[in-house]
Amino acid sequence: MLNLLELKYSINEINDKRDLISGLIKEKSVNIKDKSIKIISSEELTILFNLYDEIFLKNWFKNNYKGKIKFSLSKRMTKSAGITICPKNIASTSEKNLVLEIKIGIDFFFHYNMITEPKLVCGIETKNSFHALQIVFEHEICHLIEFILFYESSCKKDRFKSMAYNLFKHTSSYHQLPTHKKIAMEQLGVSIGDIVSFSYREKIQEGILYKINKKAIVMVKDKKGSFMDKSGNKYMKYYVPLNKLKLIKK
Ligand SMILES: [Zn+2]
Repeated sequence: MLNLLELKYSINEINDKRDLISGLIKEKSVNIKDKSIKIISSEELTILFNLYDEIFLKNWFKNNYKGKIKFSLSKRMTKSAGITICPKNIASTSEKNLVLEIKIGIDFFFHYNMITEPKLVCGIETKNSFHALQIVFEHEICHLIEFILFYESSCKKDRFKSMAYNLFKHTSSYHQLPTHKKIAMEQLGVSIGDIVSFSYREKIQEGILYKINKKAIVMVKDKKGSFMDKSGNKYMKYYVPLNKLKLIKK
């Protein structure tokens, strides 16, 4: 049986294989027709996986793995661009009953062009949203391989890092894809700690920008508020849609 831990490609081989995959996906997929992802379904992830198995992994999954792999898309992932979900009892589950799942945080790819700074994924400077998806997907494939071979996986550990490097030349386990925070910072010019305003029940409120997720958290001075700072000022907490924020003072 092919030992995936010994499989190694040069940077040129990897780039050629990635290009080959990005060309083939356009032929096989209904939704992906260029390098910028506008619509995607879990079906595209299945196609992508089969292409990776064939082109990078010499059909290792097809020929050896007897369990199932599910692919899904999420709009709720705000930190990780991809995750691999493995049942806790993997060691005692027979492989044919095993279901592993790769979940992709799709907003990172839909929002790809909303920030202009370089977008590294796993240490590789990405060129477009499909390229970024490929690298996130490669990272998750390494997790799948570790789970199947060792029943556990951690991208902080050396075994993972050397496999991700040998197969795909990944040099980190992080991404710099657009988070809601980065998008707000670049598009609205706001950052944490700024004074911002927004309208709430037809009244303009002003407060300190405290956190940015899908919505911003703004702390507004209010005697009835239940949050207090070290000077004893009381605040009320508001969840504000990002497009309602206005910068007042840096
Ligand atoms: Zn990871």
